[in-house]
Amino acid sequence: MNFEISESQLMIRQMCKDFADRNIRPKMMEWDEAQTFPAELFHEMGKLGLMGILVPEEYGGAGLGYFEYVDAIVEISKVCGSIGLSMAAHNSLCTGHIMMFGNDEQKKKWLPKLASGEWIGAWGLTEANTGSDALRMQVTARKEGDEWVLNGAKNWITHGISGNVAVVLARTGDLLDSHGISAFVVERGTPGFKAGKKENKLGMRASETAEMIFEECRIPASNLLGNVGEGFIQAMKILDGGRISIAALSLGIAKGAYEASLKYAKEREQFGQPIANFQAIGFKLADMAMQIEASELLINEASDLKNNHKSVTKVSAMAKYYASETCVRVATEGVQIFGGYGYTKDFPVEKYYRDSKLCTIGEGTSEIQKLVISRAVLK
Ligand SMILES: Cc1cc2nc3c(=O)[nH]c(=O)nc-3n(C[C@H](O)[C@H](O)[C@H](O)COP(=O)(O)OP(=O)(O)OC[C@H]3O[C@@H](n4cnc5c(N)ncnc54)[C@H](O)[C@@H]3O)c2cc1C
Repeated sequence: MNFEISESQLMIRQMCKDFADRNIRPKMMEWDEAQTFPAELFHEMGKLGLMGILVPEEYGGAGLGYFEYVDAIVEISKVCGSIGLSMAAHNSLCTGHIMMFGNDEQKKKWLPKLASGEWIGAWGLTEANTGSDALRMQVTARKEGDEWVLNGAKNWITHGISGNVAVVLARTGDLLDSHGISAFVVERGTPGFKAGKKENKLGMRASETAEMIFEECRIPASNLLGNVGEGFIQAMKILDGGRISIAALSLGIAKGAYEASLKYAKEREQFGQPIANFQAIGFKLADMAMQIEASELLINEASDLKNNHKSVTKVSAMAKYYASETCVRVATEGVQIFGGYGYTKDFPVEKYYRDSKLCTIGEGTSEIQKLVISRAVLK
């Protein structure tokens, strides 16, 4: 693996840092308090190429690789996890699914709008009663002539209300048959497709999470991605890549919390000296720094595999599991280092603390990552 940072990585890092400082930092607490999803911000991010980082240039994307993609998510998430989460879901899940499994006509139809940020994408796998156990999903699609008819509801969907287009996984065969699920593209405004309840969350509050409801929703047969029965396998492949982006989100939040804590520890004085002088605080910072670097190495390995089209299932699960648990630990220690001030909204660590927890849950919980890793090592 080459650890050298490329020119394009340096450029993306600086661009995202400047963008986040200018357009996200001043507003993020307001969005967080009100649970505002700043759709306009994502249109702006699209103009910078951040909504189609991995999409080939011929479909309107930036045509970059996983190292640049990870760097962009890290820099944005250092400032605000919500924006990092929405960016990751848009790029890896909805856009990624169409890019990986759509035919040329489908790619030409949807990718330019998604990559430019004109449209925001959603991806619906989870349902109220089927999260980790996605194969038991209840949303169905039946074929009628040259149309598919969708029924049921998807829950916990990022951009479930504001998404202009969604990739939806639905049952087209028998319950629990991994070849009984297919993937469809559904555009907002299609009769029978509406948004349901918006979740009121602990963290990631500016990233919209909502229910998507389908009632006799008719879509053209041409909106099927790949072949009938391939949806579940497609979704698992999408999650392999998606987990790298949640690992990057975790790394960004952890770095943000660590950098704020390091600065504070050098400034805050107790007993006549900076609290950084106390070994108890120095050791916390040492653990934080080490775990962040270890997360980064796993993410780099996963990115390298992905760029080289190699199997990434085990390493992306390791990166996601390790980086997300690190993120929660680092954010928790960050609050501890800030003491009482860390428990208030005047300092950034309470938000990192609240946002961090999503990372051990979304796109497969830590327990599910351990299942994936153990299956790979026991094979
Ligand atoms: C903010 C947010 C955004 C999201 N965005 C999306 C999205 O855009 N699209 C989408 O499809 N989904 C999305 N999700 C859903 C997310 O992927 C699920 O929440 C996640 O997969 C876990 O499912 P669950 O919540 O139903 O938990 P459950 O599956 O009910 O799990 C509950 C607990 O049981 C444990 N558990 C379950 N099965 C096992 C097992 N076999 N062995 C050991 N432990 C087990 C879990 O680890 C967990 O601790 C989002 C969720 C959140 C919170």
